[in-house]
Amino acid sequence: MKVEAKKRFGQNFLKDSAVVAKIIQSMPKTDHKIVEIGPGLGDLTQKLLEHKDVIAFEIDRDLCRLLQQKFAKEIANGRLKLVCGDVIDHWKQELIDEEYDLVANLPYYVATNIVLKALTDRRCKNILVMLQKEVADKFCAQPGQKEFSSLAVLAQSAGDAKRVAVVKPSSFAPPPKVDSAVILIQKKRNLDDADFMRFLKIAFKQPRKTLLKNLAQHYPKDRLQEIFVRLGIASTMRPHEATTSIYHRLYEMLKEQIDGKDAAATAASDQ
Ligand code: SAM
Repeated sequence: MKVEAKKRFGQNFLKDSAVVAKIIQSMPKTDHKIVEIGPGLGDLTQKLLEHKDVIAFEIDRDLCRLLQQKFAKEIANGRLKLVCGDVIDHWKQELIDEEYDLVANLPYYVATNIVLKALTDRRCKNILVMLQKEVADKFCAQPGQKEFSSLAVLAQSAGDAKRVAVVKPSSFAPPPKVDSAVILIQKKRNLDDADFMRFLKIAFKQPRKTLLKNLAQHYPKDRLQEIFVRLGIASTMRPHEATTSIYHRLYEMLKEQIDGKDAAATAASDQ
């Protein structure tokens, strides 16, 4: 069956067996099931199945039919479960009801969203994914690097994030317009504080402005200045210069000060 790649589903099929081998080598050694998002033509799936049982989510009905034929044996013996549909819809409930590692060559139009969902999914233990290099750098950058972003703070808050390979467009058919990269995030804990994520959005809203200026759009400046002095943070610091632990301490102190003072004010006005 001849398959035309569909742009709207972010279909760039990985054709480079050395890159597939690199992904397989980089898989964390665990007993978890593998979740693959977007098995496509099944090249990576085939290799994953040599090591682990796989649950794969594919949005494209045509590819689903092709995969059902290609992996009829593995589906029959339970090594592969193929779910046809949009993974984001499936994530409205629990994606699967056991611990898993996510291994995938992601569709780029929704890659950031998928990684964020995996970081907040308590069942997901490790994330090994290919995405646009630019986005990969945002997840893996270190404080002080210009790419250091709220995504890096979130990845570091969940565990260790590193880039394991850079992949050129020529490794795919059709080739994407940009370089890609494979990243590995080994989760040590789950992200479950939506307020912390909102706080980071505010902190990084205008990356060229100072952290103090960004936060002052939302929090009282005098309280921020007090906290900056207590934490020894320069008022000139830019968002990419602060470390993940500074972000956590800032967030905790703001929560304490503002929630605490607001609670005290409410209590006083109740009297
Ligand atoms: N894994 C294959 C490979 O490495 O060649 C295909 C990767 S291709 C970059 C992305 C795949 O994700 C495509 O098969 C596409 O149809 C699928 N896809 C796109 N959006 C999806 C979604 N929301 N849910 C599930 N699969 C999706």
